[in-house]
Amino acid sequence: MFLRTVLLFLLFLFLARFVMRLVRGVIAGAASPAAAADRCPANPPAVKMVADPICGTYVVPGKALQLARGRDTVYFCSDKCRDEWVSAH
Ligand SMILES: [Zn+2]
Repeated sequence: MFLRTVLLFLLFLFLARFVMRLVRGVIAGAASPAAAADRCPANPPAVKMVADPICGTYVVPGKALQLARGRDTVYFCSDKCRDEWVSAH
C-alpha cells in the first residue's frame, strides 16, 4: 500500500513537471512576439512625404521627380504628372 502511494506521488510529480514545462512553453511562445516587436518596431522611421499636386500621390522627396518653382520645390510621381503641372503653370 505504501509503495503504491509513493508511486502515485512520483507519477504526480512527473505530471506536474510536464505541465509546468508546457505552461512555461506557452508563456514563452506568447511573450516572444511582443519581444520581437520591441526589437523591431512595426513603424519604420518616419520619412517626410510630399503630395504630388496633380494626382495627390504621396512621394518620397529623395526619390520623386522634382521641379524647382521659386523657393519651393514641387514633387511628382511621374513624368506625366510633371508635364501636366508644367503645362498648367
Ligand atoms: Zn502623380
